[in-house]
Amino acid sequence: MNKPKWTDRERLELITAYHEAGHAVVAVSMGIGIRYATLRPRGPEQRTGAVVFRTKPRDQWSFPHSVVWMAGPEAEARALDVADLDEEPSETVVKALFGYDGNDREIVMYHAMMHSSGPRDLRKRIDEVQSLAARLVKNEWKTIVNVAAALWQNKTVTGKEIRRMFKATRHTGGSVA
Ligand SMILES: [Zn+2]
Repeated sequence: MNKPKWTDRERLELITAYHEAGHAVVAVSMGIGIRYATLRPRGPEQRTGAVVFRTKPRDQWSFPHSVVWMAGPEAEARALDVADLDEEPSETVVKALFGYDGNDREIVMYHAMMHSSGPRDLRKRIDEVQSLAARLVKNEWKTIVNVAAALWQNKTVTGKEIRRMFKATRHTGGSVA
């Protein structure tokens, strides 16, 4: 029996689950507190996930927080590589993916511009954020998969739950950065 075809909505929700799990787990790995991660719709956008941080507003301009922003697109890219999403995505899905993905990268770019002394320094800062985000997403992938699954099932996962899953992966021999 063939598996049923994914609807656009299901497909976007699954990818969004990985995206938000990437933000959340990398935040926890860097000691940034989070209240919860959610897939619950909040507005008219096609993609409606969110992670709510405990960070003070001024700390949202820090290097670790930039890495956390970049971890969403990184986890999403990795999920697209490994997830069983082999059917041709519809135009709606492709548009929603590209529209959403640009948001986090813009924030990272803006933060880097605020701190950089020139174009070369800007490039270097963005590369640093990108490579650390990619490395952490790779190292924390087991936990990201678990958190994405919990999001998929329950729609909202608390920071406490995510920290518990993070520690559980450590105890069962998950890779360490
Ligand atoms: Zn994001």
